[in-house]
Amino acid sequence: MKIAIMGAGLAGLSCAITLEKHGYQADIFERRGMVGDRFVVAEAMFSMFHTPFNDAVKYLSEDHDIHLKPNSNIQKVHLYSKNETSFLDGHLGFTNMRGKHPQSYEKQLAEQLKGDIQYNNYVTYDDISKEYTHVVLATGDAMDTEKLQPYDVAFKASFKGAIVKGTFSKKEAHVFFNNDFAPKGMAYLIAHSNEEASLVLVYPQYPENEALDKEILWGKCVAECCERLGQKITIVNEWTLENYRIGKTEVPRIGNTFFVGNCWGAITPVFGFGQFESMLTGIYAAHDIIGIGDYEKLVKPLYQGYHDSLSLRRAIEKLDNKQLDRLTRAVNNSLVETIITNKKLSIMKVLGRLVHPLSRHT
Ligand SMILES: Cc1cc2nc3c(=O)[nH]c(=O)nc-3n(C[C@H](O)[C@H](O)[C@H](O)COP(=O)(O)OP(=O)(O)OC[C@H]3O[C@@H](n4cnc5c(N)ncnc54)[C@H](O)[C@@H]3O)c2cc1C
Repeated sequence: MKIAIMGAGLAGLSCAITLEKHGYQADIFERRGMVGDRFVVAEAMFSMFHTPFNDAVKYLSEDHDIHLKPNSNIQKVHLYSKNETSFLDGHLGFTNMRGKHPQSYEKQLAEQLKGDIQYNNYVTYDDISKEYTHVVLATGDAMDTEKLQPYDVAFKASFKGAIVKGTFSKKEAHVFFNNDFAPKGMAYLIAHSNEEASLVLVYPQYPENEALDKEILWGKCVAECCERLGQKITIVNEWTLENYRIGKTEVPRIGNTFFVGNCWGAITPVFGFGQFESMLTGIYAAHDIIGIGDYEKLVKPLYQGYHDSLSLRRAIEKLDNKQLDRLTRAVNNSLVETIITNKKLSIMKVLGRLVHPLSRHT
């Protein structure tokens, strides 16, 4: 067996580590000069979106011997719509760093790998598939999947983000739902430290959104963030990302080619989480390759999660600012908060119950 992994990101590295733990070595190709050679951004993994695993960090550690050190745990999420504010609290999940940051999850995974990564090695599927019996497509880019099989793109996302300076709490995240600057999307602030944070604006590139001026939306987003947090934040480093595909493959594998991470469709459409799903698909592909699991069966629940998430997104997209205000108010109800944070209930179903009646009245 000769195994190639295209891409040393979350999915490719989780696959490689799992193979190694079972005594298999893969050739790992990474087009960049080092792991995580892109902008620094803080990301999050919320327990409520990972039922039945809940604590993703604990699960990866105990069940898969993959150990991640988050940047912080999240104890409070502030939610803002145009005219309302609410919050969720409790042990909600974790924040972590990505990209060039020394503690980024991709760097932490690379440290757990014993074998080498072949850096500055941009490879194409056509070249690789001639030489290897098994190929794991882990380039983080659904366009690579589209060359091999249909990939159902739910939408393409436009991001604008920045590292900002101010006064923050590492244990608190801030999320904004406001169509005035995040049309059918959202903005969020996740702290790196008590002085630094990532502020990110993301929305779908629907034609009506493409007609809007991105810089004006970003300006409004920054202004709203300053107002709601009651401080002037300073923008340090800005970045943009366009055409980020959020969608799903038709099948998770074709013969001995495995689609993992974003190449499989790891990103849940409603809030854009994909880290845990990327790592899981990498691990599951490894289990199939070494003969201790069936990739198609293992990813089945993730397909269901994707479809539930997409249906919720479509309902949220129909809400105007007034309805988003009503939704935000509803979260302030302590019973609703308890249901949302109940780890035994599916968050998609709970949110669906709240959102669908509102979206029917548009
Ligand atoms: C701005 C932003 C914010 C996000 N926030 C969150 C969040 O808060 N929570 C969350 O759970 N998810 C979040 N996500 C989604 C999450 O980051 C992704 O789902 C996840 O990183 C995908 O992992 P991957 O392994 O598929 O791809 P990646 O981690 O992107 O890795 C792909 C690797 O493949 C390499 N590569 C590409 N092409 C080739 C080639 N041809 N040959 C060799 N190497 C190649 C790349 O250089 C890269 O190193 C966010 C995504 C973005 C863009």
